Amino acid sequence: MLNRYLSAFSKLRTDKNRNRWTAETCHRAPHKPLLLLSVFDLIAEGAIVRNFIEPDFELAESFARYWSQVMPVGTRGIPAYPFFHLHSDGFWELVPKPGVEASPGKVISSFTRMRELYLGACLDDELWGLLADPEARERLRAALISKYFAPELQGRLSEQGRVNLEAKEYGDLLFKVAEGTSDYRKKVGDNEHGRKVRDQGFRRAIVQLYDHRCALCGVRMLTPEGHTVVDAAHIHPWSESFNDHPTNGMALCRLCHWSFDEGLMSVGKKYEVLVSAQVKVQNNFPGHILTLSDRGIFRPEAEDFWPSQECLGWHRGRVLRR
Ligand SMILES: [Zn+2]
Repeated sequence: MLNRYLSAFSKLRTDKNRNRWTAETCHRAPHKPLLLLSVFDLIAEGAIVRNFIEPDFELAESFARYWSQVMPVGTRGIPAYPFFHLHSDGFWELVPKPGVEASPGKVISSFTRMRELYLGACLDDELWGLLADPEARERLRAALISKYFAPELQGRLSEQGRVNLEAKEYGDLLFKVAEGTSDYRKKVGDNEHGRKVRDQGFRRAIVQLYDHRCALCGVRMLTPEGHTVVDAAHIHPWSESFNDHPTNGMALCRLCHWSFDEGLMSVGKKYEVLVSAQVKVQNNFPGHILTLSDRGIFRPEAEDFWPSQECLGWHRGRVLRR
């Protein structure tokens, strides 16, 4: 059975075009193998627990991370393409939404559109059974990586898979508030691998807690491909605090993140937005920042995860420009 799928995975129908795709991806479109690697990760992490794959944010984010490992900076892979086209490879079946007629052959270019037409996809039962077994999963993963990517990229893709799994564990660990502000470096190591796990794990936890909403301005936007507007920002920077506890974090949109780090915005003792006096005298700053002044920030539902006043106090005292 494993051999059957090793063979199927080596014959994925992908776009082959020497002008479009470089030797790094063996002159083929990398979408399908990258989407399958992302699915394997979600199964390993326990995010997919039954034979049903949804075109959701987690999958889009994992796909984007793999994409960035193999494709040039600035290019964007669209996960809806492989999610749709894998149906022609014999082991991936799309599940249409009841009552919705999808016109076959019509290209679907976003997860938003995908969700309008399909509930998701399921795998052959035999393949699903194999993927539940870590050893078989690793064999299939290795087969995809060695078949579709040049040797210099193979190590990077394997490493990304390990980082994804450990980042999930790290993110889960951050939710265990009882640990307080312990030294998170010890938990993942202080090397390059540990840094990636920490960054990704912290981001996962914060984005989830704030449900993609900027704590300061309240904006919540996801592109049709599933890219979120928010960053996971440290209140007291990691480089000084070594504190990855979620109460030392907030989800912030790019503008608020920059304004917060530059001391143009902060958060008060009653969780109100503070806007620096500098913004008030500079007419080049976007006016909407001023309208946020004194408004309550958006906080996670559970009080245990609200930003800590200790960290915010540090920010008010050391970063906010008076
Ligand atoms: Zn914002």
